Amino acid sequence: MRAIAVFPDSREVKLIETVEPVITRLGQVKLRMLDVGICGTDKEISSFVYGSPPPGERYFVLGHEALGEVVEVSPDVHDLAPGDLVIPAVRRPCPHARCRPCRAGHQDFCETGDFIEHGIKGAHGYLAEFVVDDASYMHRVPRELREVAVLVEPLTIAEKPESQIRALMQRRPPWVDRDVADRAIMGKGYHALILGAGPVGILGAMTFGEAGFTTSIYSRGRPPSPRVDVAQMIGAKYLASEDVPVEAIIEHVGAIDLVYEAVGHPVLALEVLHQLGPNGIYVLTGVPGPHAPFKADPAMLFRDMVLKNQVVLGTVNAGSQDFAAAIADLQTFYRRWPDALTTLMDTRTPLDQAVERIMSGPARIKTIVSCQS
Ligand code: BGC
Repeated sequence: MRAIAVFPDSREVKLIETVEPVITRLGQVKLRMLDVGICGTDKEISSFVYGSPPPGERYFVLGHEALGEVVEVSPDVHDLAPGDLVIPAVRRPCPHARCRPCRAGHQDFCETGDFIEHGIKGAHGYLAEFVVDDASYMHRVPRELREVAVLVEPLTIAEKPESQIRALMQRRPPWVDRDVADRAIMGKGYHALILGAGPVGILGAMTFGEAGFTTSIYSRGRPPSPRVDVAQMIGAKYLASEDVPVEAIIEHVGAIDLVYEAVGHPVLALEVLHQLGPNGIYVLTGVPGPHAPFKADPAMLFRDMVLKNQVVLGTVNAGSQDFAAAIADLQTFYRRWPDALTTLMDTRTPLDQAVERIMSGPARIKTIVSCQS
C-alpha cells in the first residue's frame, strides 16, 4: 500500500510502498483511510524541525488529522463495525505509573512528556491507504459528516480550552456563582478576538461564536480572499493586519475579553497580550517555531496581568470529551454554515501528489489529502 513517510536522518518526505497492516491483537481495528488534513505541525515536521519515528525505525508515516472507515475489527471489539466512520485520537498515554493524567485517561495533560503522538512523535500517522490501530482511541462520527469530518481534530483544539474558559468565566462578575452550563450564555455580552484566519482560527471563531461571544478575526490578508469570505459567512468581523495595527484593534472591536491565538507567532502574540481587557482570558494554541530573540517589557505585561485579573492559558492536544464535543459541534456548524465549512476546505489532493502539496505554499485554506485516490 502507499503512504507518505518522513525520514528525518536523510531529510526526506516521500511516497513509499509498504506492507498493508493486518490485525494482530485483540482490541484492534483496521481502517481504510479516507481524508487526512495537513496543518502547520505537518509542515514543520516536513522541514525536520519537529517529529520523530517509532523507536528503532528510520521513518514515520505523517498525518494526524484523520478520518478513516472501519473495514475490520478484532473479535472482542463490539462497539465498532465495518462501515463506521472514525476519527483517531492523536495522542496516547505515557507508560509511567506516576503520571496521574495519563493513568486517568487524560494524556493531553501528560506530565512526563513521554506520550506518543501518531504522525508526530514516536508513532506512525494516518497518511496511508490502511492503518491498524487501537479501537479504544477511535471516535465514531455520523455518516452525514463524511465530507467535513476531517475537521474534527482541528476543532478539538478549540473545544479543549472552551470548557476551561467556561470555568474561568464563572469567576467574572456578573457570572460569579452563576451556572453557565447554558453554553450560549457564557460569552454573551463579551468579545472574543481570534488571531489567525487559518482553519484552527476559523473553527475557533465558530466555537466561541456558538458560546455567545461576539467574535472578530485578526489576520494577515486583505479581501478578496476565501478566509475573509468565511469570516463573513459566520458573522465574524474581519480585521486585516495590513490595515489595522495591533494597538488599533480595540478601536474597532472594543474591549477584548478573550483572545484565541492560532498563529504561533511570538511577537504578534505578545503585542496582542498588551491589548487584553480587564478580567480577560488569553488562550495560546500556536506552537512557535524557532524565532530570533526580541525585546519585551515584562514589567508592564505582568503589571497589567495583575492589575487586570488576567489569565493566560496554554493548551495542546485534546481529550476524548473534546473529540465528542467537536463531533457534536461540527454537526451544528455544518447545518448552520455548510458553505463556510466547504469554503474552508481545499479540493482534495490525491495521495501521490501529497508531498508536492505539503511542500508548496499555503493552501487556499485547508489542505486535505484523499488517501484512496
Ligand atoms: C496537534 C496536536 C498535538 C500538537 C503537538 C498539533 O498540531 O493537533 O494533537 O498535540 O500538534 O504535537
